[in-house]
Amino acid sequence: MTILVDMDDTVEQLLKAWVKRANEKFGREVTLDDITGWNVAEPYTGISRSEIYGVTYEKGFWESVEPMPGAAEALRHFMDQGHEVYIVTATEPEHVEEKMNGLLFRYFPFIRWDHVIIAGRKQLIRGDVLIDDGIHNLEGGDYRKVLFTAPHNRSYDARANGMIRVDTWEEAVRVIDGWTECPGEEQ
Ligand SMILES: [Mg+2]
Repeated sequence: MTILVDMDDTVEQLLKAWVKRANEKFGREVTLDDITGWNVAEPYTGISRSEIYGVTYEKGFWESVEPMPGAAEALRHFMDQGHEVYIVTATEPEHVEEKMNGLLFRYFPFIRWDHVIIAGRKQLIRGDVLIDDGIHNLEGGDYRKVLFTAPHNRSYDARANGMIRVDTWEEAVRVIDGWTECPGEEQ
Protein backbone atom coordinates (compact mmCIF):
# COMPACT_ATOMS: atom_id res chain seq x y z
CA MET A 1 0.00 0.00 0.00
CA THR A 2 0.95 3.63 -0.31
CA ILE A 3 0.56 5.11 3.15
CA LEU A 4 0.33 8.90 3.35
CA VAL A 5 1.23 10.34 6.74
CA ASP A 6 0.68 13.87 7.99
CA MET A 7 3.45 15.54 9.94
CA ASP A 8 2.12 18.13 12.46
CA ASP A 9 0.52 16.46 15.49
CA THR A 10 0.62 13.09 13.75
CA VAL A 11 4.30 12.09 13.66
CA GLU A 12 5.41 14.97 15.88
CA GLN A 13 3.97 17.02 18.73
CA LEU A 14 3.68 20.51 17.28
CA LEU A 15 0.88 21.66 19.57
CA LYS A 16 2.73 20.66 22.73
CA ALA A 17 5.82 22.66 21.74
CA TRP A 18 3.71 25.57 20.49
CA VAL A 19 1.66 25.94 23.69
CA LYS A 20 4.80 25.56 25.82
CA ARG A 21 6.62 28.32 23.94
CA ALA A 22 3.57 30.62 23.79
CA ASN A 23 3.05 30.17 27.55
CA GLU A 24 6.69 31.06 28.23
CA LYS A 25 6.60 34.06 25.94
CA PHE A 26 3.26 35.51 27.06
CA GLY A 27 3.21 34.30 30.68
CA ARG A 28 0.15 32.09 30.36
CA GLU A 29 -0.78 28.64 31.63
CA VAL A 30 -2.79 27.34 28.70
CA THR A 31 -2.97 23.54 28.53
CA LEU A 32 -3.59 21.26 25.55
CA ASP A 33 -7.09 20.65 26.94
CA ASP A 34 -7.87 24.34 26.40
CA ILE A 35 -7.37 23.93 22.64
CA THR A 36 -10.77 22.84 21.40
CA GLY A 37 -10.65 24.00 17.78
CA TRP A 38 -8.25 24.59 14.92
CA ASN A 39 -7.37 28.11 16.12
CA VAL A 40 -4.53 27.75 18.63
CA ALA A 41 -4.78 31.46 19.52
CA GLU A 42 -8.33 31.13 20.88
CA PRO A 43 -7.49 30.38 24.55
CA TYR A 44 -4.91 33.19 24.55
CA THR A 45 -7.36 36.00 25.22
CA GLY A 46 -5.96 39.46 24.67
CA ILE A 47 -3.08 38.23 22.51
CA SER A 48 -3.40 38.54 18.75
CA ARG A 49 -3.56 35.54 16.47
CA SER A 50 -0.49 36.76 14.58
CA GLU A 51 1.53 36.88 17.82
CA ILE A 52 0.56 33.31 18.72
CA TYR A 53 1.22 32.03 15.20
CA GLY A 54 4.45 34.06 15.14
CA VAL A 55 5.89 31.65 17.71
CA THR A 56 6.24 28.98 15.02
CA TYR A 57 8.44 31.35 12.96
CA GLU A 58 11.00 31.84 15.75
CA LYS A 59 14.43 30.46 15.02
CA GLY A 60 14.87 27.08 16.66
CA PHE A 61 11.14 26.52 17.21
CA TRP A 62 10.84 23.47 14.95
CA GLU A 63 13.91 21.94 16.54
CA SER A 64 12.07 22.02 19.88
CA VAL A 65 9.19 19.91 18.51
CA GLU A 66 9.41 16.30 19.71
CA PRO A 67 8.39 13.20 17.79
CA MET A 68 5.11 11.49 18.64
CA PRO A 69 5.80 8.40 20.76
CA GLY A 70 5.91 5.27 18.62
CA ALA A 71 5.76 7.14 15.30
CA ALA A 72 9.28 6.28 14.10
CA GLU A 73 8.83 2.61 15.01
CA ALA A 74 5.46 2.51 13.23
CA LEU A 75 6.71 4.11 9.99
CA ARG A 76 9.75 1.84 9.99
CA HIS A 77 7.44 -1.14 10.50
CA PHE A 78 5.24 -0.13 7.53
CA MET A 79 8.32 0.19 5.32
CA ASP A 80 9.65 -3.17 6.50
CA GLN A 81 6.27 -4.64 5.54
CA GLY A 82 6.85 -3.39 1.99
CA HIS A 83 4.55 -0.36 2.10
CA GLU A 84 5.51 2.98 0.58
CA VAL A 85 5.40 5.73 3.21
CA TYR A 86 5.06 9.36 2.17
CA ILE A 87 5.00 12.35 4.52
CA VAL A 88 2.37 14.82 3.35
CA THR A 89 2.47 18.18 5.07
CA ALA A 90 0.94 21.59 4.45
CA THR A 91 3.98 23.60 5.46
CA GLU A 92 4.76 27.29 5.24
CA PRO A 93 7.73 27.97 2.94
CA GLU A 94 9.61 29.66 5.83
CA HIS A 95 9.41 26.47 7.91
CA VAL A 96 10.65 23.97 5.38
CA GLU A 97 14.40 24.01 6.10
CA GLU A 98 14.18 23.73 9.90
CA LYS A 99 11.15 21.45 9.87
CA MET A 100 12.85 18.96 7.55
CA ASN A 101 16.46 19.04 8.76
CA GLY A 102 15.84 19.92 12.41
CA LEU A 103 12.86 17.65 12.93
CA LEU A 104 11.76 15.14 10.28
CA PHE A 105 15.14 13.83 9.10
CA ARG A 106 16.55 14.06 12.62
CA TYR A 107 13.99 11.73 14.19
CA PHE A 108 12.97 9.81 11.04
CA PRO A 109 16.30 9.38 9.23
CA PHE A 110 14.92 6.57 7.08
CA ILE A 111 12.51 9.02 5.36
CA ARG A 112 14.07 10.58 2.30
CA TRP A 113 13.28 13.98 0.79
CA ASP A 114 11.76 12.28 -2.27
CA HIS A 115 9.18 10.76 0.09
CA VAL A 116 8.04 14.18 1.32
CA ILE A 117 5.10 15.92 -0.35
CA ILE A 118 4.32 19.50 0.61
CA ALA A 119 0.70 20.15 -0.18
CA GLY A 120 -2.25 22.11 1.12
CA ARG A 121 -4.84 20.03 -0.79
CA LYS A 122 -4.14 16.48 0.32
CA GLN A 123 -7.26 15.19 -1.45
CA LEU A 124 -5.39 15.64 -4.75
CA ILE A 125 -2.80 13.06 -3.73
CA ARG A 126 -3.18 9.42 -4.65
CA GLY A 127 -2.62 6.91 -1.86
CA ASP A 128 -4.32 3.98 -0.15
CA VAL A 129 -4.38 5.44 3.36
CA LEU A 130 -4.00 8.87 4.95
CA ILE A 131 -3.17 9.13 8.65
CA ASP A 132 -3.85 12.70 9.77
CA ASP A 133 -5.17 14.70 12.73
CA GLY A 134 -6.81 17.25 10.41
CA ILE A 135 -10.40 16.42 9.60
CA HIS A 136 -10.27 18.78 6.61
CA ASN A 137 -7.51 16.65 5.09
CA LEU A 138 -9.43 13.41 5.46
CA GLU A 139 -12.90 14.53 4.39
CA GLY A 140 -13.45 14.02 0.68
CA GLY A 141 -10.19 12.15 0.13
CA ASP A 142 -10.10 9.03 -2.03
CA TYR A 143 -8.11 7.05 0.57
CA ARG A 144 -8.82 5.11 3.71
CA LYS A 145 -8.97 7.59 6.55
CA VAL A 146 -7.23 7.21 9.87
CA LEU A 147 -7.88 10.14 12.23
CA PHE A 148 -5.10 10.64 14.73
CA THR A 149 -6.61 12.03 17.93
CA ALA A 150 -5.59 15.61 18.75
CA PRO A 151 -7.11 18.18 21.14
CA HIS A 152 -8.91 19.96 18.30
CA ASN A 153 -10.64 16.85 16.89
CA ARG A 154 -11.74 15.13 20.10
CA SER A 155 -15.44 15.89 19.71
CA TYR A 156 -15.58 14.84 16.02
CA ASP A 157 -17.53 11.69 15.19
CA ALA A 158 -14.93 9.85 13.11
CA ARG A 159 -16.93 6.68 12.60
CA ALA A 160 -20.00 8.54 11.29
CA ASN A 161 -17.72 10.18 8.72
CA GLY A 162 -16.07 7.00 7.48
CA MET A 163 -12.88 7.38 9.47
CA ILE A 164 -11.13 5.23 12.03
CA ARG A 165 -9.92 7.10 15.07
CA VAL A 166 -6.64 6.09 16.69
CA ASP A 167 -5.14 7.55 19.87
CA THR A 168 -1.66 6.08 19.50
CA TRP A 169 0.75 4.82 16.85
CA GLU A 170 0.41 1.31 18.26
CA GLU A 171 -3.30 1.48 17.41
CA ALA A 172 -2.56 2.81 13.92
CA VAL A 173 -0.25 -0.14 13.31
CA ARG A 174 -2.94 -2.60 14.44
CA VAL A 175 -5.51 -1.04 12.11
CA ILE A 176 -3.24 -0.98 9.06
CA ASP A 177 -1.76 -4.41 9.69
CA GLY A 178 -5.35 -5.66 9.87
CA TRP A 179 -6.06 -4.25 6.40
CA THR A 180 -2.98 -5.95 5.00
CA GLU A 181 -4.02 -9.29 6.43
CA CYS A 182 -7.60 -9.01 5.14
CA PRO A 183 -7.40 -6.88 1.96
CA GLY A 184 -10.60 -5.02 1.15
CA GLU A 185 -12.18 -5.68 4.52
CA GLU A 186 -13.16 -2.63 6.56
CA GLN A 187 -12.66 -2.83 10.28
MG1 LIG B 1 -1.59 17.70 11.30
